[in-house]
Amino acid sequence: MPLLTGFPDFSLHALVIVLVALLIVTPGCLERTSSITPSSPAATAETAPVRAEYSPGEIPALGAAAETRANASLNAIAALPPGERTFDATIVAFDTAMTDYTDAIFPMTLMGYVYPDHQVADEGMALEASSAVFLNDVYTRRGLYDALKGQVPRTPAESRFYNLTIRKFEKNGLNLPDDRLEKVRQMNDRLSGLTSRYSANLNNDNTTVTFSEADLAGVPESSLATFEKIPGGYRVTMKNPDYVAVMKYASSSATRKAMYLAYFNRQADENTALLEEAIAIRRNLSAELGYATWADYRIDGRMAGNATNVMAFLDAIKEPLQEKTRAENAELLLLKQELDPTATTLDPWDISYLQNIRMIRTYSYDENEVKEYFPVDTTLQGIFQIYGELFGIRITEVTGADVWSPDVSLYRVTNESDGATIGYLYLDLYPREGKYGHFATFPVINGRMKDGAWSVPVTAIVGNFPAPTDNRPGLLTPGDIETLFHESGHAMHNLLTTVPYGTVSGFNAEWDFVETPSQTLQEWTYDPDVLTSLSGHYANTSQKIPPSLRDRVIAARDVGSGYYYSTQLAKTLEDMEFHMADSTPDTQAVYARLYNEMTGLSLPEEIHQPASFSHLMGEYDAGYYGYLWSKVYALEIADTFTRDGMTNRTTGMRFRQEILAQGNIRDGGVLMENFLGREPGTGAFYRRLGIEGVAGAGNTS
Ligand SMILES: [Zn+2]
Repeated sequence: MPLLTGFPDFSLHALVIVLVALLIVTPGCLERTSSITPSSPAATAETAPVRAEYSPGEIPALGAAAETRANASLNAIAALPPGERTFDATIVAFDTAMTDYTDAIFPMTLMGYVYPDHQVADEGMALEASSAVFLNDVYTRRGLYDALKGQVPRTPAESRFYNLTIRKFEKNGLNLPDDRLEKVRQMNDRLSGLTSRYSANLNNDNTTVTFSEADLAGVPESSLATFEKIPGGYRVTMKNPDYVAVMKYASSSATRKAMYLAYFNRQADENTALLEEAIAIRRNLSAELGYATWADYRIDGRMAGNATNVMAFLDAIKEPLQEKTRAENAELLLLKQELDPTATTLDPWDISYLQNIRMIRTYSYDENEVKEYFPVDTTLQGIFQIYGELFGIRITEVTGADVWSPDVSLYRVTNESDGATIGYLYLDLYPREGKYGHFATFPVINGRMKDGAWSVPVTAIVGNFPAPTDNRPGLLTPGDIETLFHESGHAMHNLLTTVPYGTVSGFNAEWDFVETPSQTLQEWTYDPDVLTSLSGHYANTSQKIPPSLRDRVIAARDVGSGYYYSTQLAKTLEDMEFHMADSTPDTQAVYARLYNEMTGLSLPEEIHQPASFSHLMGEYDAGYYGYLWSKVYALEIADTFTRDGMTNRTTGMRFRQEILAQGNIRDGGVLMENFLGREPGTGAFYRRLGIEGVAGAGNTS
């Protein structure tokens, strides 16, 4: 089942991607959505919206009960006599049954990623795997499909909702004869098992590398303080803060290489095999379903429409990015030779380190100095204030509620106008043993109308930001702040929905549109007034970041952006190639070739990047392009705010109502036109990639 995730490989701070969303199958959608804010059952104080404590054995039992209830509802729909098959009794009832089911299990599948007790966490992951099989089965039930098919929508929105629902069944083989339908179902089940195991392997991965103190020369004390101390040195995990600290600061090339190899060899053997088997099944499955490739199958029904359109979009930026990266690399090589006159080439594990030195020299600041102004809590409150101003909401902490770990917090989102509770947000921000290792936003409860009342959405941001130490709070770099804006942008998309149907509300949007709100809001990071407002030195939070330092941080935003986007494009092309090939590729060889093509650098043969490229087994297969595709829209929206003001309430409310509220009730292109008042162009996107005006950059409308 789904999950979402994202994570910058390294790259100084260029952007971060991250995300996630999940959902069942793909989106569907419906009805004329009102943009009036739903009212809701008021939250009583200090009550958590979902359960956060489980004993071993409970999750399997609760999961089975949810499945039994769903089956009863679905069977009742299928059993309706033709005369009673109204739109509400079929299509709407189906949405209700499915959302009742996901509302029951998502709080528990989330526990698979975060729960401190290993047995309960394993049970959460097992429920995610079994629910994927259950959902595969639901969408191959002919009796159910027959009951839903042929209903007459009453509005354009219902029409979209209907078409998306039926399409899910048909994309699962419902228009095939029974024997082939069964074959498709079996392949989907097998695929679900493979993706679950791949994710579980990464969640449970406990790869560490041990280094002596000398090996870690250059790594700041604040990072060393978070590493496990062992006699003579440290044990370093593959969690994001550890990895970034070593890659960016360790002066020893051998140390960085060891870290890089360990990181890109996580679960190398087993996950490579799982991925390659999944690619083979996907290829056979798409053929069975009448598509030329798995990429065409997945992209059918999204904004891009088909793989050809995606490849044309990617091709337009390929050469300009290569050119930009070559120029960056030439500068970095000179720098490397200054440090080591014998050096003749750049290696992948040099990039973060050298970019950081270059940034310090060019812009005269060190990120370790900058992050002292951005303690997690202060920054978070600043982000919440900005969202409050933009969207007319208040985000306040719920104290004393039950949470799954003491470092998790819960927030209530209310409307400023009437105080009504419109959603809940969990924040689980710091690394823990056995916890998901990157950054993702999970749906927990989908917003929708239920029994005539609004059911408020609940979402959870799971991250791995630098943890507090004995004498300092967790401190955020500009890249971390972007990540926080990004993930909380996903959360806003989930929480501010007004779509009444759970399967198409919130971030159940088109998969190549879903990164739009998150990538839009991360743009706030580099606005001078915003950055100042978020800051407050950890030793004295009334002390804001000095304007001259702030301005240098902003000026340095695009340092290394050629390498960053080239790597993004290499990963995007990797995903497309895996899912357009006629036979199962040697996945590592494909990535090594594409990485080399895009960056000019060579990867050692022993690297196994596809084994930990979790997007490929986390719903972003033939979907990673969505980050770049959505970025076009995100930058158009952000440009509007740059013009109107980053905290302009009028524009903010328009963003809320025309885009964030809409889920998948209209297609992404329509949402963009409604917000912009015109079709989106690519000018802002090319400018951000730094390729505007570079030969081959396509038109820059
Ligand atoms: Zn994202």
